[in-house]
Amino acid sequence: MKKIFCINCYEESKHDEKFVAEIVNVRGLDLEVEHRYLECTICGELMEDPSNLDYNYIIDFKEYRRVKGLLQPEEIKMIREMYNMSQRDFADVLGMSHATLCRYEGGALQTEHHNSTFILATTPNALHKLVYMKFQATGNEKYENMLENIARVAGDIHNLSSNKSDHLELERMRGELLGYTNKFSKTQSIGTHVTKLLSGKHIKIHEDRRKVMSNFKGESGWKV
Ligand SMILES: [Zn+2]
Repeated sequence: MKKIFCINCYEESKHDEKFVAEIVNVRGLDLEVEHRYLECTICGELMEDPSNLDYNYIIDFKEYRRVKGLLQPEEIKMIREMYNMSQRDFADVLGMSHATLCRYEGGALQTEHHNSTFILATTPNALHKLVYMKFQATGNEKYENMLENIARVAGDIHNLSSNKSDHLELERMRGELLGYTNKFSKTQSIGTHVTKLLSGKHIKIHEDRRKVMSNFKGESGWKV
């Protein structure tokens, strides 16, 4: 329990950690999430943890990606690292800015278009074709090195039938890459919770939060 200045009762008071189920709207989709707040032990007012202001946004985006079947930030990073590529090179090959890829790996919400691009990049032959065309057009030898790495990944997949244990290992890895977002299926219906939550104080808090939501760009580190 730590002492924080309460903006409601104007006291330097002790705050308890409190988790509250809320409905948030991300890109037009209502999601049920569990947000973390600090509760003033004097007046009961809830506030977001000033030392970790991104926490609840990261929860929201994570849930949005899960519901929409989008890749999570760590999965995007896994795909890139499968080819042993730097952020700069991977972004270049996929036709997005380095800053954009950095933000996605740092927790910002990717577009559906970019999400599809990442999924297509899990197929080595597709990525190889992209890089090969860049190599042909520019003659830049950095693309040659990328082609070697991609060919190695493609070769690993091709040669699997001769090695059962490697095959299983790769299937597990690909399962993690592409199946992860569907692993935790939710059985609870959001509709029943909407009704339950609509009258509560947390809705007010949520409305306040929504105002600043569009400013979050995911520049800070991954904290969840
Ligand atoms: Zn207070």
